[in-house]
Amino acid sequence: MMPNIPAEVGEGSRRRVLQFFLANLKTIVTSDQIRRAAGSSEWARRLRELRDDFGYRILSHKDRRDLKPGQYLLVTDIRDPVLPRNISKETRAFVLERNGYTCQMCGLAAGDLDPLHPGQKIRLTMGHIIDRSKGGTDTPENLRAACTNCNEGLQNIAPPKPARIELLKQVRRATIADQLHLLQWLEKKYGKIKPTDAS
Ligand SMILES: [Zn+2]
Repeated sequence: MMPNIPAEVGEGSRRRVLQFFLANLKTIVTSDQIRRAAGSSEWARRLRELRDDFGYRILSHKDRRDLKPGQYLLVTDIRDPVLPRNISKETRAFVLERNGYTCQMCGLAAGDLDPLHPGQKIRLTMGHIIDRSKGGTDTPENLRAACTNCNEGLQNIAPPKPARIELLKQVRRATIADQLHLLQWLEKKYGKIKPTDAS
């Protein structure tokens, strides 16, 4: 018998994602399967809500070594107590601005085309540097802008930051139009916030 689904989960794609996980309890499922079950491109956000707001222990490769990126596992239908979310609107805005509205893992910016979801644009969310499950807090020091793909571990890349000379080489070879675009972007970013760490 299927375990009960809390009424707060609602009727939409979040419920379908949960139903799918409950029907596949203790079985490794893939992002493609979840997307199909959700019938929505928003499945990753729904999954995150089920985990963070409803306490379902949905594990990913971040939690278990034997899981690959894009694989998920609900280990039990017993929900964990949910930690209150303490990220205020102000904190969120501060972190996004500090990070230049750019994913700190892959470098894509809010509104860029999403390479994994054709036709969609990159959405940024709050990523924790030290995970909440490991005691990380919701303070700006422990938060960074992360796109939903990186935050869900869909892109298994966190490339090292480019060396300054490599970056300059790229910029110098770019078209004037692209250099001016970069200038605009930098002005927008640093017009308001002065970098305190100029290293
Ligand atoms: Zn990213």
